[in-house]
Amino acid sequence: MDITYVPGVGSKRAEMLKRELGVQTAMDMLYIFPYKYIDRSRFYLIREIDDEDTFVQIKGHILGMETIGVGKKERLSVHFTDGYNTIELLWFSAAIKYVKPKLKTETTYVIFGRPTFSKYTHQYEFIHPDLEQEGVHNQETYLGLEPYYNTSEKMKNSMLNTKAIRKIMSNLMPMVKQGIPETLSSDLLRRYGLMNLTDSLQNVHFPASNQLKEQARSRLKFEELFYIQLHILRTANRKIQYSELYKMPRVGHYFNDFYYHHLPFSLTKAQQRVIKEIRADMMSGQQMNRLLQGDVGSGKTLVALMVALLAADNYAQTCIMAPTEILANQHFETISKMVAGTGINVALLTGSTTKKQRTILHERLMSGDIHILIGTHALIEDNVQFQHLGLAIIDEQHRFGVKQRSKLWEKAELPPHILVMTATPIPRTLAMTVYGDLQVSVIDEMPPGRKPIMTVHYTIQQHGRLNTFIDQQIQLGRQVYVVYPLITENKKLELLDLENGYQYFCNNFPQYRICMVHGQMRPQDKDAQMQMFARGECQIMVATTVIEVGVNVPNASVMIVENAERFGLSQLHQLRGRVGRGADQSYCILMTNQELSKDTSKRMKIMTETNDGFRIAEADLQLRGPGDLEGTQQSGLPFELRIASLASDGEILNLARQAAKEILANDPTLENPQNIMYINQLKRLRPRVERTDWGEIS
Ligand code: ADP
Ligand code: MG
Repeated sequence: MDITYVPGVGSKRAEMLKRELGVQTAMDMLYIFPYKYIDRSRFYLIREIDDEDTFVQIKGHILGMETIGVGKKERLSVHFTDGYNTIELLWFSAAIKYVKPKLKTETTYVIFGRPTFSKYTHQYEFIHPDLEQEGVHNQETYLGLEPYYNTSEKMKNSMLNTKAIRKIMSNLMPMVKQGIPETLSSDLLRRYGLMNLTDSLQNVHFPASNQLKEQARSRLKFEELFYIQLHILRTANRKIQYSELYKMPRVGHYFNDFYYHHLPFSLTKAQQRVIKEIRADMMSGQQMNRLLQGDVGSGKTLVALMVALLAADNYAQTCIMAPTEILANQHFETISKMVAGTGINVALLTGSTTKKQRTILHERLMSGDIHILIGTHALIEDNVQFQHLGLAIIDEQHRFGVKQRSKLWEKAELPPHILVMTATPIPRTLAMTVYGDLQVSVIDEMPPGRKPIMTVHYTIQQHGRLNTFIDQQIQLGRQVYVVYPLITENKKLELLDLENGYQYFCNNFPQYRICMVHGQMRPQDKDAQMQMFARGECQIMVATTVIEVGVNVPNASVMIVENAERFGLSQLHQLRGRVGRGADQSYCILMTNQELSKDTSKRMKIMTETNDGFRIAEADLQLRGPGDLEGTQQSGLPFELRIASLASDGEILNLARQAAKEILANDPTLENPQNIMYINQLKRLRPRVERTDWGEIS
């Protein structure tokens, strides 16, 4: 049914719903889920407010109000009391005009909204809360639980707000309720104890009770995650290709010679295990698609090299792709050094490789003379051809888009074995959904002799103390990184910047040499500075996050992050991973302003509490949501998540994946007519509509 004909819609609104929400049919509309419910059945007391996540309603009256500031800075501050405590309600600029005349001190109001914790007053307050006279609202609610829908600015401007959506839903539901087709088999519903679709849609929009609402939401989450899993796993099944070219059974001279005569240390148990796992894939006769996760410093490069040697033993070439030129150079150097004298030829291809060098390189690749080619994405963009590319290793893949990866396919008769390495630990839920088609290997052990990095959090006022510490460390022969969020000063942002920072350190430490890298430098300059630091010719490296990924200078033992509040958890963890690579005690010092938001405090707390990348990744997912995590936008979920959350629905995800696996076990690509309902539903699920202008509260 076309949504236009639902009372309360009409052609103009239908157009808007289509453009803003991707809604065309009645079913599309019913899959626009509330993002929250306000519990109208109970009033909170001000003193009960203890987080920013719960929307609450409070009954009380106004004690007084004042308007502060002028123009854009103007705000209306209202003192509201529930009879016991008071709380501040705030309205800014334009809103003041129509709120203020309505406010009366003798009226009893119900306010509702999401409390915010003010970093200035250190108390909770409400910004632009909804405010109604007592009794006005409660009559039209459904047993206390009132649904709220996300609407865009444009929708709000044409009065298509949450109330309007609620009205449309209540008109629509009775019209279609009899004919909603179930999307999960009765077998699945029974075995997983799920509510049927009709009841679920009814209760997600008009919950008869909290319990039924939760059952409805569980079922809808299950459905969403189930189809994602079904899609991913089925696609993976369809991709499986068998070929003699994929068979790499030999462990030959290159591997053995390196293992027995050139390996500078013994492998950790975890390294041994993942090499075995990778080797099993490489022998199997089908294409490997494996994700290798291992925290910073866990020794992934060595694993990459050893499996490249296995490929070489089977007459196949390997390319290793790094996200930055610095890192590609570094891999090239480390690996060249390690394989010196083994007969393995390694080459480097980056943006700085000259045309003349390229010509020679192309020939050597075609003749099979080069065993391992290391490079940046220049490597895929360049029209290099290999004699037989058998293995592609992608380091820190979140910088490589899916499109770029697929270009690799053109470089060989068959897509090569793929090994994706990442030090940004991916929470399990995310790995299962975004990388659900990849097998996962984990290095969960650090090379021996590492001391855990000590992390402390300082505020900017403690910079003096920090300088003493830096000096002590350098006296001990160590080196120091200082990372800034900006390169150049920006008057609008109250942040420290690298250029001033460089001056600051030059002035404060005239006895030391200071070098600098940032993204706007020419690659050769960047490289020269990095080399100087790596050789120990300078003591302090002032940098931006270009040094975030993979750089290895074991003698550097102090990482200082200025304006640490500006960085996400994974980024901070990555930065911290630049130190702690040698035998010395290392330190990570997070500098922030005095005033911190609640989220920032949480981030600093987690960083100082743990070095465990997986815990940090989980916390990151909780704090930011999966959409923000590096890499997910690029690799993307196959379908948009409308109700399930990767941060909190891990259990449902496990069940949904299990259900999908059971179905595919008997019918790997869903050819069987009895599974036609799944195919049909997969076809109906459309790719996500990109939306950016969600209002916070509708
Ligand atoms: P990452 O996993 O972050 O890429 P690297 O591969 O850069 O880590 O390794 C970090 C450091 O650990 C390197 O200096 C490397 O030589 C060293 N290393 C790797 N494996 C071992 C091992 N088994 N024993 C001791 N040191 C090792
Ligand atoms: Mg690495």
